Amino acid sequence: MLEQAQRVLKDVFGYDSFRGSQGAIIERVARGGDALVLMPTGGGKSLCYQVPALLRDGLTIVVSPLIALMDDQVATLDELGVPAAALNSTVSPEQQRELAVRLRQGEIKLLYLAPERLVQPRMLSFLQQLNVALFAIDEAHCVSQWGHDFRPEYLQLGQLAELFPDVPRIALTATADKRTREEIVNRLALHDAERFLSSFDRPNIFYRIVPKEQPRKQLLAFLGERKGDAGIVYCLSRKKVDEVAAQLVEQGFPALPYHAGLPAELRAFHQKRFLNEEGLIMVATIAFGMGIDKSNVRYVAHLDLPKSLEAYYQETGRAGRDGLPADAWMAYGLQDVLMLKQMIQNSEGDERHKRVEQHKLDAMLALCEEIRCRRQALLAYFDETLPQPCGHCDNCVDGVLTWDATEPARQALSAIYRTGQRYGVGHLVDVLLGRDNEKVRSAGHERLAVFGVGKGRPEGEWRSLYRQLVARGLADMDLEGFGGLRLTDACRPLLRGEISLELRRDLKPQVTARSSGGSPASQLVRGEEREQWEALRALRRRLAEEHGVPPYVIFPDSTLLEMLRSQPQSLAEMGRVSGVGARKLERYGAAFLDVLGGGSAVAPAPVVDLRHELVSLARAGMTPAQIAGQLNCTEKNVYSLLAEAIAAQQLSLEQALDLPFELLSEIQDAFLDGEGELPAVSDIAGQFQGKVPEGVLYCVRAALQSEFEL
Ligand code: ADP
Ligand code: ZN
Repeated sequence: MLEQAQRVLKDVFGYDSFRGSQGAIIERVARGGDALVLMPTGGGKSLCYQVPALLRDGLTIVVSPLIALMDDQVATLDELGVPAAALNSTVSPEQQRELAVRLRQGEIKLLYLAPERLVQPRMLSFLQQLNVALFAIDEAHCVSQWGHDFRPEYLQLGQLAELFPDVPRIALTATADKRTREEIVNRLALHDAERFLSSFDRPNIFYRIVPKEQPRKQLLAFLGERKGDAGIVYCLSRKKVDEVAAQLVEQGFPALPYHAGLPAELRAFHQKRFLNEEGLIMVATIAFGMGIDKSNVRYVAHLDLPKSLEAYYQETGRAGRDGLPADAWMAYGLQDVLMLKQMIQNSEGDERHKRVEQHKLDAMLALCEEIRCRRQALLAYFDETLPQPCGHCDNCVDGVLTWDATEPARQALSAIYRTGQRYGVGHLVDVLLGRDNEKVRSAGHERLAVFGVGKGRPEGEWRSLYRQLVARGLADMDLEGFGGLRLTDACRPLLRGEISLELRRDLKPQVTARSSGGSPASQLVRGEEREQWEALRALRRRLAEEHGVPPYVIFPDSTLLEMLRSQPQSLAEMGRVSGVGARKLERYGAAFLDVLGGGSAVAPAPVVDLRHELVSLARAGMTPAQIAGQLNCTEKNVYSLLAEAIAAQQLSLEQALDLPFELLSEIQDAFLDGEGELPAVSDIAGQFQGKVPEGVLYCVRAALQSEFEL
């Protein structure tokens, strides 16, 4: 059986070997046994049922909660030459009838269904007439009422066990905790299922958490090192999402906003663009993410603190599904803690629920202030032991400087106490530094013993100290009092001098900005490889457009990278590249060989593609100068491409240039002055010398010309 599975893996999917426990899982399921699979995102869950589906006789039903995900998988299978279909609300009645015929004739190997549709009595009795080979229940944690993805329809999937007693079932999830696991087994009646628990480590993700200083600047520095890469930037509020997205666009980054406040069509459009185009940045609330299957998300950046490690793990896990280097970056500060605490306080649940949420937040904070390996700490939270520090997180790579903060911590706590436990950090720091301002004076705080005791220490250090005191539960924030600090029971031993306190020393912001990487995933490709890499990507994009699928469905980045590195020179060699199966070899092998064959002498990205890129940048609101930076060419080039795009009516003049109205009319008048043909740019250039770049004139002329042609 395993041998057959291996053959399917190579012939259909183009992969050489199974990852982790994939082989064992596939063998179990293909032989008709049940399985429960816990595997992290990107671990390769899909193959665990797709390969058995091809090995077993009959139809495999895949239950999946998300339409986008279904469509993506069907498109991927289609590219591989595997007959698959999805049945959801986007399928018309007519198409449904057609599909039913094909199902009856046994022409389909995999059918994707939403749970609510599967459990409809009509659907169930229809399926009972077919030869069902396997049920795969994806995102199985949705049965858990405790989890945030709970879907009541999942509860009804338990009846499959009785209705189809002889059909094996496989349930899969990337959610790690024990309680969810037991719930899945009980609710789906998977008592005989063999359990396959993989490590939840995501070794290709580099973790970095920095203190918030000037968050937007820090973000820009981080993104600046990752130009051209696709990534997600998470913010807590809708307002902030809009602001950050706008700011990024202004700074020349192709960014799109996504949150529940946007109209549904716009949201769907942005999501689609993120999936289909390369190098876009999605600025989003946590409304974005579930079911995003894009494999080459190179980074996930958090501008605000997630509310738990579960959320952090899940959100950062969207980076690097393809196994190539990826970054999880976060900036966090005391303000985040206040916001989240307020959210917990104002949430609906009972007190017990709030306490649980509070504990989860504490665990998240502990990771932020962690002085040992971040990965060890993160995995430990999920009951997994990583024996050695990972060597692939900020703490491992930069080392953590710690200092004995016992004495200053006492001073800081004492300042809280003496001022009446109701002031925020700003005021407390003023008191410690002996700043004689109005607020201090009106409260009479200049007469306190702690006034000015902290003069020897810079403001930043005091702020960092307060942040860490809160994170460690030695001080708490008063939520009604707008973040005033108060003491907790936990700080007593410290005040009494019974324990000492060792804290992280924050690195200087410029240091953190410069070395925001550690693993700049954008340096995936070395300088001399860049041209060919871009040519491969351009070809992939063209093919993706032709086939109406996202680029990564044609080939994932990892496959392109292997082509680049191994330089296959024949179809046979191309077939050995991981990810090139028989069908794709036949369809695309020659085209990609062509690109490689010419070696680096091949022209980079054909002009059409550059223009394509330029059009989307211009539409995103970038100025010619910003576009030039982005495309790594001169502004003059950008102007001539813009003029071409305008002439081809891919772009309006307004989209291309932001010209003041008067200036625009002046230029238009100059062109329209005479009779007959439009004058050439050189004829009127003298008139506008020093006023506007010549390129602007080309653009205006192109716009006028295309108007005339209509
Ligand atoms: P998950 O559903 O667990 O998040 P996927 O099934 O989407 O993960 O797989 C993630 C990526 O890994 C996909 O691009 C997939 O093609 C690739 N992959 C899976 N199994 C293998 C394998 N054995 N060898 C090479 N690539 C694999
Ligand atoms: Zn580490």
